[in-house]
Amino acid sequence: MWKHNLGFPRIGINRELKKASELYWSNNIDCNQLFEIGRKIRFQNWNFQINSGLDLITCNDFSFYDHVLDLSFLMGVIPKIYLDPKFNNFIDLYFSMARGYQDNEWDIKAMEMTKWFNTNYHYIVPEFTKDQKFFINSNKIFSEIDELNNILNSSDKIKPVLIGPVTYLYLGKEKDESFHKMDLIDKITFFYIDLIKKLVKTGIKWIQLDEPILSLDLSDLEKKSFKYSYEKIYDVFSNLDIKILLTTYFGGLLDNISILKNIIDRIHAIHIDLIEDPNQLDEILSLIKKSETILSLGIVDGRNIWKNRYSNSIRNIKKVINSIGMDRLMISPNCSLLHVPIDLDKEKSIHIDIKNKMSFAKQKIDELSDLEKIIKGERSILLKNSYLVDKLDQSNIIHNKKVKNEYSDFQEKDIKRKSSFSIRQKKQQKRFNLPLFPTTTIGSFPQTKELRSLRNKFKKKELSKNRYEKEIKKLISYVIKKQEDLNLDVLVHGEFERNDMVEFFSDKLNGILSTKHGWVQSYGSRCVKPPIIYGDVSRTDDMTTNWICYAQSKTNKFVKGMLTGPVTILKWSFVRDDQPIFKTAYQIAWAIRDEVLSLERSGIKIIQIDEPALREGLPLKKKNWNYYFNWSINAFRIASSGVKDDTQIHTHMCYSEFNDIIEEISELDADVITIENSRSNMDLLKIFSNFSYPNEIGPGVYDIHSPRIPTKEEIFKLIQESSNLLPIRNIWINPDCGLKTRKWKEVFKSIKNMTEAAKLARIKLSD
Ligand code: GLN
Ligand code: ZN
Repeated sequence: MWKHNLGFPRIGINRELKKASELYWSNNIDCNQLFEIGRKIRFQNWNFQINSGLDLITCNDFSFYDHVLDLSFLMGVIPKIYLDPKFNNFIDLYFSMARGYQDNEWDIKAMEMTKWFNTNYHYIVPEFTKDQKFFINSNKIFSEIDELNNILNSSDKIKPVLIGPVTYLYLGKEKDESFHKMDLIDKITFFYIDLIKKLVKTGIKWIQLDEPILSLDLSDLEKKSFKYSYEKIYDVFSNLDIKILLTTYFGGLLDNISILKNIIDRIHAIHIDLIEDPNQLDEILSLIKKSETILSLGIVDGRNIWKNRYSNSIRNIKKVINSIGMDRLMISPNCSLLHVPIDLDKEKSIHIDIKNKMSFAKQKIDELSDLEKIIKGERSILLKNSYLVDKLDQSNIIHNKKVKNEYSDFQEKDIKRKSSFSIRQKKQQKRFNLPLFPTTTIGSFPQTKELRSLRNKFKKKELSKNRYEKEIKKLISYVIKKQEDLNLDVLVHGEFERNDMVEFFSDKLNGILSTKHGWVQSYGSRCVKPPIIYGDVSRTDDMTTNWICYAQSKTNKFVKGMLTGPVTILKWSFVRDDQPIFKTAYQIAWAIRDEVLSLERSGIKIIQIDEPALREGLPLKKKNWNYYFNWSINAFRIASSGVKDDTQIHTHMCYSEFNDIIEEISELDADVITIENSRSNMDLLKIFSNFSYPNEIGPGVYDIHSPRIPTKEEIFKLIQESSNLLPIRNIWINPDCGLKTRKWKEVFKSIKNMTEAAKLARIKLSD
């Protein structure tokens, strides 16, 4: 039985990579200093995995920015515009692809970035041309093999990892429409064969090719490309002294098993994800039984922070041993550990019973050794594990009877507003008497260095509550005054008290904890620290009312209350694993509902519940969408349905793909939805229009992600186009997301142009 790992976090135990790359980008260290930090992180990661007893050590899982970009770089898939400036070294070229590049002469934007499957990690999207060439353009993978060889003094245990050819093509996009990216399968396959031949020459015995798309719904073309590519690869390597481990993760493999059937007797080793799909094991075993294929079991959860339940894993391990024998078994986490924080030992203030059930990347590697020891007979490890895991599962730290009984479910009346939208709309129009094309913003206003330091000081108790609140109130008064000056119709308080829209609420809710060092890479040097939902969730006190009411007290205009929705809180956290996800979602939803009602009682008449994570939570396979939509829509409706008819519920989502989810979006029944639209050329609104979306919509009229100031004319044009597609009475005017990353100067100018465009629209476009 081999123990191995698909990949280890590369940000460094103290986020060394983040710090070093940011220093490098601001010219405070040179590239050799940066490389040295990279080398140290790799050594630290490898040494740790070696000491923990892994039988194969993965390399090439390190990256200075993104492993997909690394592969593009390795294969020379570099759009021409990045080759035009003559960079002094390859790393500057590499970073220019990731982050764009500006100097006196050049102004090149960054490559597109998007989500890595349904995780919170983002990769740089490869861009292909019709005559794309693939050639070895970087020796990173070879030098990492060298480095590891020097530590191990042998190449037998080295296993470099690469994304496989089909997944790589799948992740990329064509530069123009004259070809399909899968047309490149032939060329890329030959490139991989060539590369693998060169890798074999270094003496290594293992290569890991990641093909997570095998757990998606694939088109015929993708399936065909897959068969083609791997038949070719295995034809060359099935008799050589190299083992190619084909990995699948983020789901089960069974829907695509037919692709593998033809080549199964030539596949050296295959990895399956038993965390996402435990039910696939029997069928996989029966498929490979007669072959010599090695089976790698992904049994430790690489996407969540809970301890492995050894009794379950041992059952599966024994099943495999009985079926194909110990020699053909590998064990590992289900996917790369990129998605969990590195070291739990650094957390000193988590309640011991909770901490005893937790496990970060380092601990997860150790769990593999534990499993091996149990198989060899050390039963005490198994008993201790069951004791610790059960102890928390049964502890009253996580259980709250009242919440369980009253707030883990709902009745029909709890998810229905009192009247239908058309009745509510009339009542709301009467109450608010807003002009045509009402203007508003999405919630946050610029967050400055000073503000961040203010919040930090308060958090560290260097600043009294009194002083802190005074400062925040000053900012609120300021932003209210500014919004009045800018002529906005519905105002916000600015979210100055929040560093993060999820953390702010999770810090205040019972049953959720924040870590001190639990950083996970989101993209490049950007890391996030997801909260941990460990127990029944409830709300003790008001979380936002005093701020919102203070803002309302400063103006006669309406101030919008601002909350994060249950689906987003859940999706951006690590979630407990001892109950079905919908129960956790409903508990959070009830807590948010309480807050909504408290705001309403305090006189707030418009309340926004943000759900930017709703779409990204969609399961990878379509067959699982129904289940997801069922609980997520219910959760949103629990949170939003308790209010009176004339209280207006807004929601906000910041993406522009609604084609396949428009029906579900309308089922949320929010009175107003604000969405991203400015970058999608109105395509998005056509979807709402074709669907005859009944409620009010604020299609973002400019892109807040760029410092550029939109002109009044271009905004007017967008409003005009929207008016052709949607009922005029239903249109709101707003930016496409919160303004927290912008500078004040930019915000003033942009919003001024926006409100003036709305004014013009009222004159020119009224019906
Ligand atoms: N209300 C939040 C803000 O304005 C919404 C952020 C988001 O959509 N991600 O910052
Ligand atoms: Zn947004």
